[in-house]
Amino acid sequence: MHIHLDLFDNFEEIIERCERDRIRTLAVTTTPRAWPRNRDLTEGKRYVRPALGLHPELMAERAHEITLLERYLPEARYVGEVGLDGRRNNRASLPDQRRVLEKIFAGCAELGNKILSVHSAGAATEVLDLVEQHLAGSSCRVILHWFSGRLTELERAVALGCYLSVNIQMFRSGGGSRLVEAIPADRLLTETDGPFIRMGSEPSHPWDTEKVVNELASQRHVEREELQAALLRNLKVLVTD
Ligand code: MN
Repeated sequence: MHIHLDLFDNFEEIIERCERDRIRTLAVTTTPRAWPRNRDLTEGKRYVRPALGLHPELMAERAHEITLLERYLPEARYVGEVGLDGRRNNRASLPDQRRVLEKIFAGCAELGNKILSVHSAGAATEVLDLVEQHLAGSSCRVILHWFSGRLTELERAVALGCYLSVNIQMFRSGGGSRLVEAIPADRLLTETDGPFIRMGSEPSHPWDTEKVVNELASQRHVEREELQAALLRNLKVLVTD
């Protein structure tokens, strides 16, 4: 539910392999300038869907692109990567980040039926405040991508109706692993977040989601087929609800 396919050199080849191998993939973007290409290359595809985004870490240079995002918003079912980043390097742009995210959330709520992939590193409570204010009770659905907040913030996210997409990196720390464990089975989704997450010397590809499924199955003491079926049910509920 979260990978930056347009940052791979072989974007089109990866789309074809996802289609061939039936790997459901949400291709998020970091700037609305990338939307037309992502939209066009995935048009008519069954397994790869594009998301319209404006990444919080780019807000220092790109806050003005909110105008472009708002122009494309009516034609996008999926929105991401959007959100807030409150970590040290990005704290200076937080006022801009907040202003932009409020516009995106308000626009989504008004148009309705959007599915959002949301970044909340170092800013979980602020993101949840905005979700509660703008999206709770709307027909939009929020997926918190690579959640790294506190356990109490995770519980609040679940109470607000959020889904959580989990990647392999979250299993590489004790804190991340405990968060994953606390996600209710019916809110769980997977992601790979390539090329930012790597598998050894390679950027993480959509098919590496298999490794996340294996980790989840072993953590939850269930068969991998059972876990995979549950993930697929969650995705179907998410997109048809
Ligand atoms: Mn990302």
